[in-house]
Amino acid sequence: MNPPRSESSAAWFAAAIETALSALDQDGRRRRLRPVALPGPRLVLADGRQLIDASSNDYLGLAQHPALKSRAREWIERFGAGARASRLVTGTLEATLELEARLAEFKGSEAALILNSGFQANAAVLPALFELGGGRTAKVFTDRLNHASLHAGCAAAGVKQIRFQHNDLAQLEELLATHAAGAPAFIVTESVFSMDGDRADTAALATLARRYNALLYLDEAHATGVLGPQGRGLGYGLENTVVMGTLGKAFGAAGAYIAGSRQLIDYLVNRCAGFIYSTAPAPATLGAVEAALDLMPLLDAEREKLAARGNALRARLAELGIDTLSSATQIVPAVLGSIDAALAAQRRLEAEGVLAVAIRPPTVPAGSSRLRFSLSSAHSDEDFARLLAAVAVLRT
Ligand SMILES: *Cc1c(COP(=O)(O)O)cnc(C)c1O
Repeated sequence: MNPPRSESSAAWFAAAIETALSALDQDGRRRRLRPVALPGPRLVLADGRQLIDASSNDYLGLAQHPALKSRAREWIERFGAGARASRLVTGTLEATLELEARLAEFKGSEAALILNSGFQANAAVLPALFELGGGRTAKVFTDRLNHASLHAGCAAAGVKQIRFQHNDLAQLEELLATHAAGAPAFIVTESVFSMDGDRADTAALATLARRYNALLYLDEAHATGVLGPQGRGLGYGLENTVVMGTLGKAFGAAGAYIAGSRQLIDYLVNRCAGFIYSTAPAPATLGAVEAALDLMPLLDAEREKLAARGNALRARLAELGIDTLSSATQIVPAVLGSIDAALAAQRRLEAEGVLAVAIRPPTVPAGSSRLRFSLSSAHSDEDFARLLAAVAVLRT
């Protein structure tokens, strides 16, 4: 299997990459990076064209908010451009711990820990949790539509997932009843699903977890800042739940947090490799998160506007006969079926000045390629009205 160390090994490598890429080309799944000249609710492309951006996760427009930008600059002036070290070495500022205490308060938990990204958090924290079985293999119950980073965490730990149909808590209960006894059990799911825009019944999940002595791990990437009281998420107030969320979506900055007990956070500081062996987040990022936390309680009007926009877009798509699945949030899928149909729809919509990116397998199941609209309270009323008018081109 090992190619010889010679010129031919490089040729073998290039040919293998070519084969992999052309397989993607053949069924329309090859993706390319498309640079944006200027980001924003109306973004500017490299060719100068302006588009209404219905694809970013900047749900409250905080990435462009003057308070976040100026706090980021302030933290750069105080602490520098980079963190210089990992958290356990010299990468923890007093200000970092204060920020984590504030995040914990926001989430209603005892403690919180900031990590560099949501992907990293899920990929690194889950294996650390699954190790807690003391030699017994963890039983891990997962929603079929879980995010790739949650799969990465399960794969890194080498656990076999016990999957339930999307949001099917009756099936989850059956599986728990059959498999959960006698082993440390975990339920791993999301409060808002990133490609469908629907919600999980988090209270019912917590009840099931309690009944079967399982730990609930809830990914709040798309709920943080948007849903729950003052944007505290749908896991707010749940007991015995480990909550993960991102700081690069509605929070407008970057990174992720884990919220839970003091004991849990102390354990992760000692046992979570993705936390221990990674340089701490840059001061600018932490400053922006601090400013976003200051703003969060003041943004109820923006959250209401966002919810109303989700309702309006779903109603409009329903008139056009387009399936929006069980979407109930600011994320609205317009399911079109084939990859080609989704790509063609993206082009037609773009000609109308709106960017909603086509999402295709493997991100979503085959046959459910779609445009994914992610709305923002930062779009002007005029731009949102243009978006609602433009979706008429999706009628087939
Ligand atoms: C975006 C996302 C992540 C990853 O978070 P990043 O901070 O972007 O790495 C994890 N889980 C879900 C459900 C997400 O949507």
